[in-house]
Amino acid sequence: MTDKMTPAQRHYVMSRIHGKGTKPELKVRQWLWRHGYRYRLNVKSVPGKPDIVMRRYRTAIFVNGCFWHGHFVHFGVESLGLRVESQLEVESGVLKVDSSQCCKIPQTNREFWVNKIKRNQERDQRNYQMLHDNGWQVIVIWECQLTPKRIEETMLRVELLLNEHFLALHQPKVIPYNVQEMPISIAAEEEHYEKR
Ligand SMILES: [Zn+2]
Repeated sequence: MTDKMTPAQRHYVMSRIHGKGTKPELKVRQWLWRHGYRYRLNVKSVPGKPDIVMRRYRTAIFVNGCFWHGHFVHFGVESLGLRVESQLEVESGVLKVDSSQCCKIPQTNREFWVNKIKRNQERDQRNYQMLHDNGWQVIVIWECQLTPKRIEETMLRVELLLNEHFLALHQPKVIPYNVQEMPISIAAEEEHYEKR
């Protein structure tokens, strides 16, 4: 199996997981909670097991680690027309074929890492698409968007997306009053009458 990690690779993985301060997902949850938003975690009935599920807003939030999900790195994964990966970016989300600022792929065993991250991206896209097809809004928040400097701006954008989607969901169904209805039916009646 190509997926088996060497001790060096495992060490690298562990160094990426530990010692990073507050978990990115936790930062998002804390912000939402502080601002009065309520959510559910690990909802199994929602496809792709999003990190945060907000049923009221029919929104699924994924908090992605930049390394594992290959932020700004493009390995030829079809995005299925859903550009959720850049919806919160201030700068234009230019995808790079090589390592990006926040996803530096090790040169050692490069192929291993490229394959791993590419598979993660493919799985992400499938999940996002499935949710989208079921009427869910998908919001992807990247780890690098949650630094003390960027978190407020990022979360305000998330808030905007939530509320926009909420409004779209609860828009009253407008039944347009057809002003032509009366004259047409009268005309039809007259026509009918004349034929008799
Ligand atoms: Zn990033």
